[in-house]
Amino acid sequence: MRTRNGNNTVFLVTALALAALAAFLWIFSAAKGREYRAEAAVTAVPTATVHAVNLVSAAAALSAAETPSPAGTGAADAPMYVTPAPAAFAAAETPAPTASPAPTAVYLASGSAGEGVRTLQQRLRELGFLEGEADGQFGKATKAAVVLFQKQHGLDADGIVGEKTWTTLFGDSAHAMETTPTPAPFHGVAESVPILVNRQHPVGSDWVPEHLVYIADVIPSSVAVLADSKAQGVSEAVYALKTMLEAAIADGVGHWKIREAYRTYDAQKRIFNNYVNKYLEDGRSRSSAISATRQTVADPGTSEHHTGLAFDLNATNTSDAFVDTAQYVWLVRHCWEYGFIIRYTDEKEDVTGFLGEEWHYRYVGVEHARKMHETGMCLEEYLEWLGAAE
Ligand SMILES: [Zn+2]
Repeated sequence: MRTRNGNNTVFLVTALALAALAAFLWIFSAAKGREYRAEAAVTAVPTATVHAVNLVSAAAALSAAETPSPAGTGAADAPMYVTPAPAAFAAAETPAPTASPAPTAVYLASGSAGEGVRTLQQRLRELGFLEGEADGQFGKATKAAVVLFQKQHGLDADGIVGEKTWTTLFGDSAHAMETTPTPAPFHGVAESVPILVNRQHPVGSDWVPEHLVYIADVIPSSVAVLADSKAQGVSEAVYALKTMLEAAIADGVGHWKIREAYRTYDAQKRIFNNYVNKYLEDGRSRSSAISATRQTVADPGTSEHHTGLAFDLNATNTSDAFVDTAQYVWLVRHCWEYGFIIRYTDEKEDVTGFLGEEWHYRYVGVEHARKMHETGMCLEEYLEWLGAAE
């Protein structure tokens, strides 16, 4: 009996112990599960709210966390602006279930780091406010880009990304960076007699046109790419070129490249000599090499590119000769409307001394361009006509 009683006791104790262990394990695993859930939620809400996580808010945040994250597989190939609200922001839109103040959804400022900053940087890059890599570090460049974005969108330019800046960034009113015209365009070219630079009318080796600007400061790469990022042109002509190319793009004719623009005397000299040397290597005599070069290349001081008013254009979407492109067809019809002429054509070769150059556009201002377009005169003929008319 004793033994049996003893056995019964042992059995009872063992059963109780097992029950206690089971209960402990159940509580432990439940707690663990909650912990995981809380952790999952924490990744989706900003750090500021982590301390406030309780069962209710964790559950709310968890449901928000289920919103597909832009980094998640679902939205991986969708561009950022198609999915305007990243997870962190979506979490904030979930109504706060408790009486505690609504968490600040987005707060990114100098020193911030991580996915949120990366998302911010990618958006700023898309809009042209930020150059360089989206490295997830909110440094000086990111702050400057944010300030610029805020200025151009009527926001407080404090360089801090709160809810308002964030919603604007991903909202419909967000627009690409506007470049500031430097200096303001003037109209001296259009209002004066067009300058003539050719073999009979050279400019001096030290002559430099006024009002040169960097084309990249005026024409964004979305309008035209530059063969030379440091290319310059006379302000008025560069602005006219921008307006013209934008009009072409609006007509569905894009993919522009600016191949050549302002050329200094020395640059022209280099180009000329390169051609001469090439012909010399082909076994020509010096005088033959020079006259062959002169068919297509102007002597230093006689190139229209020296004026800063001439641009060689190209199409980036085809390897066809420019004369066979939609871009050329558009320019033939419309370039005069923007103050440009096709400077050298085959028909006028004996007047201009140049073979046709379908890619070479010279700015003279709308009035002069219109008259030349209407009369079919090339620049040499037009200037003679103007002189005779005076
Ligand atoms: Zn040219």
